[in-house]
Amino acid sequence: MLTDETTFSSFNLDPRLQTALDELAYKTPTPIQVQAIPPILKGRDVMGAAQTGTGKTAAFALPILQRMLHFESTSTSPARHPVRALILAPTRELADQIALSVQRYAQHTYLRSAVIFGGMDMRPQIEILRNGIEILIATPGRLLDHVQTKSINLSTVQSLVLDEADRMLDMGFLPDLQRIVNLCPKQRQTLLFSATFSPEIRKLAASFQHNPVSVEVARSNATADTVVQTAFSVDEAHKNALLIELLRAQAQPRQVLIFLNSKLETSRLARLLVREGFKADAIHGDKTQNERLTALAAFKSGSCEILVATDVAARGLDIVELPCVINYDVPFNPEDYVHRIGRTGRAGQSGKTIMFVEPRDYRSLREIETLIKHKFELKAWQAPIARPRERSVWGERPPKTLNHPVNAQLDPFFTQPYVPTDTIESKPFGTVELSSPVESKTKQSKTPKRPALAALLGGQKIH
Ligand code: AMP
Repeated sequence: MLTDETTFSSFNLDPRLQTALDELAYKTPTPIQVQAIPPILKGRDVMGAAQTGTGKTAAFALPILQRMLHFESTSTSPARHPVRALILAPTRELADQIALSVQRYAQHTYLRSAVIFGGMDMRPQIEILRNGIEILIATPGRLLDHVQTKSINLSTVQSLVLDEADRMLDMGFLPDLQRIVNLCPKQRQTLLFSATFSPEIRKLAASFQHNPVSVEVARSNATADTVVQTAFSVDEAHKNALLIELLRAQAQPRQVLIFLNSKLETSRLARLLVREGFKADAIHGDKTQNERLTALAAFKSGSCEILVATDVAARGLDIVELPCVINYDVPFNPEDYVHRIGRTGRAGQSGKTIMFVEPRDYRSLREIETLIKHKFELKAWQAPIARPRERSVWGERPPKTLNHPVNAQLDPFFTQPYVPTDTIESKPFGTVELSSPVESKTKQSKTPKRPALAALLGGQKIH
């Protein structure tokens, strides 16, 4: 029986896979890997309840690669490289992330893998598919586009993986999934992974899988124990000020992922943070694929320190040691909370997450608390008195009295006292040479006596 003390060597993986793991410094398998790898190696169907960051990609990718090695071929003929494993993911980011992991695990083998998702030109993807690949990672919509153009044949699939199945259902992919499953052979291995297990997911598993082995590494809908979760009670007008205070208090190098519910507000907040001197960027569904990938790459490399995102980024974003996730908005769907904060505390690392709760969010908060079985103690936060230049940040007009603090440095020119001298002609305001002589006469009689312009400019006469 395998235990938590299990090492990778106990799986008897091919030495080339083991070498890749050594290079990645994977020393001991994570609990989901301990539980899922043996049945997958045996060809069983597996239903895995695993939250993000638990190492579930390797849990299904390693045994699949091991099984596919049997068919490894050095031939350049596409016929020798049929699609044998199909991995479906809900978002482009997750698909991309899985593809990167598969590529790393398979780097010393002749197995070919590729990723296809929407928002990119189809032609290069068609070229890759026509050349032949054993492991295909795809989002459902784009895969069906390729089925339509007959650039892919799914009748050779032996292992089908539905990753983040709950999310695929949430995103309305059920009809697409049904079409894809119908195109795959009936005799196949089906692996289904999901962070949360709703009755719909269980129904999906029942219709797509055959006598699956259930593996569960943490209570379903649980959040990682290594993540410290806090929440602030704050009204909308003060969220920006609180955010900036928290960001400034973050240890360097800062790497913070901030979640919002609206695309528009996501871009707005990123711009505001840039104005405040942070290296920030935004990703959401309206950005082009290239913009999203560039922003993600910058965040991963550290050249962007704060990434403001909608839930599109909650999946597939794997940054080793991401220390902090901020829920600027409470998610509408409590299960999204689990996914959002799953971006930190990955693979046993510690992390922290902070949520801003407005009075209107109390109902959603209660739903989250019920789901994750954790009660938040809402921290109160006192907004400091705003200074004028911070008005846009604080979201309110600062008190007028602060406009000229007592000790403020004033322009020396205007602070010089007016000292009347004999040389200065104290003419009424309207009679200074700026006016014509005719005007001067009329104004002289009507204009009340006012200090000369020269006096206003510090006692110097203007000629
Ligand atoms: P995943 O849940 O598959 O997205 O994996 C989360 C992170 O854990 C990724 O950065 C993986 O590279 C890493 N990881 C997966 N398995 C292991 C392991 N056995 N040892 C160390 N890191 C791992």
